[in-house]
Amino acid sequence: MKMDALKSHRHFFRYTESSSKIQVSFNGDFNTFSNYSHRCSHHLAGKLCARRQSTEQHIAGTGRGTRASYGLANWIRSQGYYAKPYPGPSAEALVLIPPAIAAGLGELGKHGSLISRQFGSGVRLAGVTTDMPLVATGPDRFGGDEFCKTCQVCTNSCPPEAISEHKQLVRGVERWYVDFDKCIPYFAETASCGICFAMCPWTRPDARPKLLATMARRLGQTPPEP
Ligand code: SF4
Ligand code: SF4
Repeated sequence: MKMDALKSHRHFFRYTESSSKIQVSFNGDFNTFSNYSHRCSHHLAGKLCARRQSTEQHIAGTGRGTRASYGLANWIRSQGYYAKPYPGPSAEALVLIPPAIAAGLGELGKHGSLISRQFGSGVRLAGVTTDMPLVATGPDRFGGDEFCKTCQVCTNSCPPEAISEHKQLVRGVERWYVDFDKCIPYFAETASCGICFAMCPWTRPDARPKLLATMARRLGQTPPEP
């Protein structure tokens, strides 16, 4: 796959220098998320399980991660450099979220996943390790973390109550915390979940520009162009 083809799929590439990783993010289909969110509200009322929709969402996202990471790795190799793809979520040894944050693809949300300024929480990640010389990008602070301090949507929406309301000390670092001993069994039982991503206000394309402008003002940054 050529780089142009990858770009046309709305992928974002960022590079973190310390560990020579390229992170790829790509947007989920908002109609899927939106539809899912609607189903979630029924689910939370105990009326409907969104099993089929979420499985399709999961498979589509996994396939796009595989294509993106393998396509990018193939292109880097064609330029004469080493490259190894890590398609999420089966990235094995490469933990995808920390380098994605370091490379500026987004901020860590209360739901334990990335919030991106381009795609909100509707993001899936993949990665490539390489020895190609690249210019490192830096973290992107647009107010995602700040917003989570006053938002409780995912905490209140999570059926097994896995999402902590406040940050906790995790391996010496204060950060948002999700209890995976609660999340994973529910995730397996429903053949996937994702209610927290679907319900997150940043996932809504119509809400995202307003949230970005509000948070830029709160952080003393120049609001983005409408
Ligand atoms: S994926 Fe589902 S169970 Fe896991 S934290 Fe999100 S809402 Fe809760
Ligand atoms: S739903 Fe609210 S608290 Fe949860 S990740 Fe999204 S913005 Fe943060």
